[in-house]
Amino acid sequence: MAINLEVPRKFEQLVDQAHTVAVEIFRRNSRKYDLAEHTYPKELDMLAAILDGMNEGGGMSGAGAGTVGSGASSGNGTSGAERGGNRNGSNMASLLGLVELCWGDVGLLLTMPRQGLGQAAIAAVAGEEQLQRFGGKWAAMAITEPEAGSDSAAIRTTARWDDDEQEYVLNGEKIFVTSGDRAELIVVWASLDPSQGRAAIKSFVVERDNPGLKLDRLEHKLGIRASDTANFVLTDCRVPRENLLGSPEIDSKRGFGGVMQTFDNTRPLVAGMAIGVARACLDRTRELLGEAGVEVDYDRPLHSQPAAAAEYISMESDLEAARLLTLRAAWMADNRKPNSLQASMAKAKAGRTGTDIALRCVALAGSIGYGEGELLEKWARDVKILDIFEGTQQIQLLIVARLLLGKTSAELK
Ligand SMILES: Cc1cc2nc3c(=O)[nH]c(=O)nc-3n(C[C@H](O)[C@H](O)[C@H](O)COP(=O)(O)OP(=O)(O)OC[C@H]3O[C@@H](n4cnc5c(N)ncnc54)[C@H](O)[C@@H]3O)c2cc1C
Repeated sequence: MAINLEVPRKFEQLVDQAHTVAVEIFRRNSRKYDLAEHTYPKELDMLAAILDGMNEGGGMSGAGAGTVGSGASSGNGTSGAERGGNRNGSNMASLLGLVELCWGDVGLLLTMPRQGLGQAAIAAVAGEEQLQRFGGKWAAMAITEPEAGSDSAAIRTTARWDDDEQEYVLNGEKIFVTSGDRAELIVVWASLDPSQGRAAIKSFVVERDNPGLKLDRLEHKLGIRASDTANFVLTDCRVPRENLLGSPEIDSKRGFGGVMQTFDNTRPLVAGMAIGVARACLDRTRELLGEAGVEVDYDRPLHSQPAAAAEYISMESDLEAARLLTLRAAWMADNRKPNSLQASMAKAKAGRTGTDIALRCVALAGSIGYGEGELLEKWARDVKILDIFEGTQQIQLLIVARLLLGKTSAELK
């Protein structure tokens, strides 16, 4: 069977447009917002308006950060798929757009208005009415807590049902919320009943201006400084019944089911972000090598080329392996095939490879690579987060091992 690894023709326009945005808007503002941490990149407002126009015209749909989720549900038996919300190819479109945009700047991508990881959760588990209310809004995702990072089942935030007011009352603390200060909505994970374990964990949509939600602080970070990372305290935060995503029933057989399915969509996308950053590093390194008189020749064996050229080619092949794993995971999501294993494989490989390539490119470029005159040092700082959030490198490998060996999370931890 022949396999065609070219970008399908129907996505070519989207890829071209995303690349133009990456060059004209993201790259031009990269260093500015790396240096001005916590300043909102106002240039993105204009971009959001252009993207809205393109989406209406069908031109660039799926290529926004939305990529981190908009309109894309996995088709892994989620309600999104059942209601037919999964356009075939939407995960692939999002992925291809993201790779290009992150070639431009991953920090700016992560702070694109009206996008955000919360939209992935909404797309995966929201009902029709909720989609109407929340769709198209900027939605952050708040899972992590001081005592619960990798082990998200350990969250302590509670959601108590108030029978008198017919509302949920949320109490707890959430940390490291990407776009937490800028988003309009925050999807908060909380437990309806901590004694019932992971089955009782549900996600709730909280309006950013809810008086029970108080911003504690913004983080100062190694990289992705254009993207704000917020910490919150929830104190008697009242949320209407209709803002619980999915079913309010505690179904111990389904366990984490609903909420975890979000990751099957988002992990390939985060892998795609790492691929975009790594591609940027390689492209710039190739130019610098060329300026230094080092020629990269694909027709000659590695051992007969300069060491720098051989290293460049080996990095490219590693990136291609990550890219193919990631394309497969997104393709499976679009084709309604369970992809948890492939999504974690892709994220593990791309997260590690992206970080590795970025640092090796800094090394190859020598002192130029380490200085602020180039973006290489910035990309090396930025890319590391893609190997941490949405599940760290170690956690992805653990998930892969569990799925390959047929072990539960209790049996292999
Ligand atoms: C910039 C930034 C943005 C973020 N954005 C968001 C967001 O929008 N929403 C959100 O909810 N969270 C977000 N996070 C949180 C992120 O998802 C967590 O940091 C991540 O899940 C790891 O959790 P932790 O930091 O508590 O580390 P820990 O879970 O304490 O892990 C520490 C180390 O131990 C390893 N480890 C943990 N358990 C195991 C195990 N069983 N086996 C082997 N190794 C293990 C980890 O891989 C890691 O190397 C963000 C974090 C950062 C830094």
